[in-house]
Amino acid sequence: MELRDLPSVDELSRGSEDPLAVDAARLVLAQAREEIRAGADPGDLARRVGDELRAARRPALRRVLNATGVLVHTNLGRAPLPAAAIERALEVGRGYSNLEYDLADGSRGSRQDHVASILRRLTGAEAAIVVNNNAAAMLLALAALAEGREVLVSRGELIEIGDGFRIPDVLARSGARLVEVGSTNRTRASDYDGAAGDDTALILRVHQSNFRVVGFVERPTLKELAAVARARSLPLLDDLGSGAFVDIADEPTARDALANGADLVCFSGDKLLGGPQAGIVVGRADLVELLRRHPLHRAMRIDKLSLAALEGTLLLYLEPARALAEVPVLRMLHEDVESVRERAERLAAEVGGEVEETVARVGGGALPLVELPSFACAVEESLAARLRLGEPPVIGVLRDGRLLLDCRTLADDELGAVAAAVIACR
Ligand SMILES: *Cc1c(COP(=O)(O)O)cnc(C)c1O
Repeated sequence: MELRDLPSVDELSRGSEDPLAVDAARLVLAQAREEIRAGADPGDLARRVGDELRAARRPALRRVLNATGVLVHTNLGRAPLPAAAIERALEVGRGYSNLEYDLADGSRGSRQDHVASILRRLTGAEAAIVVNNNAAAMLLALAALAEGREVLVSRGELIEIGDGFRIPDVLARSGARLVEVGSTNRTRASDYDGAAGDDTALILRVHQSNFRVVGFVERPTLKELAAVARARSLPLLDDLGSGAFVDIADEPTARDALANGADLVCFSGDKLLGGPQAGIVVGRADLVELLRRHPLHRAMRIDKLSLAALEGTLLLYLEPARALAEVPVLRMLHEDVESVRERAERLAAEVGGEVEETVARVGGGALPLVELPSFACAVEESLAARLRLGEPPVIGVLRDGRLLLDCRTLADDELGAVAAAVIACR
């Protein structure tokens, strides 16, 4: 084909007035011109326009199959939702809802009321408030409790969570002033006491979610810190990061944090809790009320779909055995390694791969030292890019010249799709 043989945009889009079709024809023609100049054959232009159009109409945000072995993968949407949570979001999203309507009274209600009582029950807190995510929860708490005043934080907890989210920066944006206490590796309760003054508004404790310091280290227990806070009449805010309602390794639960004297505790909805993105704050009713009335609350409010999914998730935790069975993050975390191996063997048999021992991780900035024994199906490295671009995309891990498809993060009902994708890519 020569440049002069190329059709016009109008011919190629068959006179369509659909701007998408016109753009697709323009794009294909521009590419074809380049290819012809480079001495290549552009092939079937009409088919290429069809491909472009389909790609343009396809949603950009799509489901992918996570074969990385990282359970709470921040880049892959963190926690897959429990079925019960999806049902709640579907039901509430499909029609109108009592989001801010009190059905008993026939008057305006609060969206916070739908999850407040279950959060109180699950954590033992007096009150609860839920916002968009935990970063927002922290910002709101700091702004509402310490704007223009000092917040005491250990130098060992001035952490970066990921994607540039740094505790000192959030503190600065909240309008509070950071007062660093202790040292990177050792901070004592007396350091907080010594730093507290007339202008101190709050003691902040931040869970070292995504890293650990080992060796010559010291950190006050929450109880010791709470004693300092009480003696100084200062509220103590404990940012748990992930937060959990069931015992998971050494991860603190919100209930324990409150029982040990934290006045407010904040944590994410979509890390180890395994629900939708949300920031949950529980604790003293008077402090929660300050958060609720703060103008920033309106800018951070949780949307109805997330709220519905969160309630669906929290309801599962009323029966911990049910949560363990039905919250995907918890199920993957606790699954027996032999079941994972069986899945890897089944996948390997279907695609002609090899079973490899691997280590899966929690991810999402939680439990950085926990190694979960796992098994993967290893296939050719050259499939990686094609699997990522397939439908559905499959994301694995490259190791020693092969692509590992870790089976701890693949569900039984996803295995067929992974096998079909591998076979289609060869
Ligand atoms: C993850 C994390 C946050 C931020 O939570 P998001 O829900 O991602 O906004 C804040 N603090 C700590 C300690 C965390 O681990």
